[in-house]
Amino acid sequence: MRSAHLQVSIISFFIEIKLAHLICNIKSTFVILDGMPKVTRVINVGKIKMGGESPIVIQSMTNTPTKDIRATVAQIKALESVGCELVRVAVPCLDSAKAISEIKKQINIPIEADIHFDYKLAVESIRHGADKIRINPGTLGGLDKIKHVVDVAKEYKIPIRVGLNSGSVEKDILKKHGGVTAEGLTESTERSVKILEDLGFYDICISVKCSNVPMTIETNLLLAKKFDYPIHIGITESGTIRSGSIKSAVRLGTLLHHGIGDTIRVSLTGDPVEEIYYCKQILSALDLRKFGVEVISCPTCARTEVDLIPIANEVEKQCAGINKHIKVAVMGCAVNGPGEASQSDIGIACGRGQGVLFKNGKVLKTVSENKMVDELMKEINKMAGGR
Ligand code: SF4
Repeated sequence: MRSAHLQVSIISFFIEIKLAHLICNIKSTFVILDGMPKVTRVINVGKIKMGGESPIVIQSMTNTPTKDIRATVAQIKALESVGCELVRVAVPCLDSAKAISEIKKQINIPIEADIHFDYKLAVESIRHGADKIRINPGTLGGLDKIKHVVDVAKEYKIPIRVGLNSGSVEKDILKKHGGVTAEGLTESTERSVKILEDLGFYDICISVKCSNVPMTIETNLLLAKKFDYPIHIGITESGTIRSGSIKSAVRLGTLLHHGIGDTIRVSLTGDPVEEIYYCKQILSALDLRKFGVEVISCPTCARTEVDLIPIANEVEKQCAGINKHIKVAVMGCAVNGPGEASQSDIGIACGRGQGVLFKNGKVLKTVSENKMVDELMKEINKMAGGR
């Protein structure tokens, strides 16, 4: 009887929610049209493409000494295993540049060498197999040195990321704009990019970072209007995993929503492997890329009549290794539950001690609380291809 009552509530809500979703979808289309999606030019970074219609590349950066080949390879392999697609390594010395060739033999994703000040390190990194380098042309010590780096990049056919930050804006630009401003950062970037363009080099990616959130966003909006080069988005000094992931989600999410960003990095003070999880969550939340199983669950409230929190956590845990994108909803009651559950690939809308299982928008059956995880996993595994 209780089960029949639950199913009647679910069906009436089902119709209302379908209508609500239709309206929501129309609204979100307007938001996208209102933004400024931009098609950038495509550059090749090793075996991956960045820019244009290519998927937004997920990247991270190692925090091992690059010259410690063993430790660096181990960290890159850990990053690869969770979905990192491009890894950056700092090159503070010649031994680090030389290590790139051996590191490359043992990894499967492209490697970007991060260079500051010393053009020789850029040249050696390229010669030892870097798939991309990150420099600030203005700090390499003069045009002849920049030209040398550009000539080698051309010879090895690798792109250059022009990476600037608020601390590297030229004095005359600071004076003109009265300090660090979005316009000044943009002008500084134009100056750096022009140096490469004047040397006939166009395999460029741009990144500009500062710790001020609105300024970072405004600068990237200006850059996207001025250039068609791919843009790397990330933030400096984002913080620990707890605070940094939220700051990154706000800044990166805002830019991505405006169609800006061809590659992203969530910088966190912690294990770089964690960064990949947050990159994926941001892209997934904006429907820009899909990864594995996405578990949607309600926060629970006084209407919840099952112990929902461990159920949602257990389902998410058991789905961790599934690569196919499946949307799973674990919902606490008949108020919001049926809508979400029926809009997902697989879902459960709970009542007192039991729940109604949905698959592809249709009710499958009623299951008791103690069988929910098993029944959900049975259907998820079937959909994933019988893992
Ligand atoms: Fe409460 Fe139901 Fe919303 Fe969950 S879905 S938070 S139980 S109203």
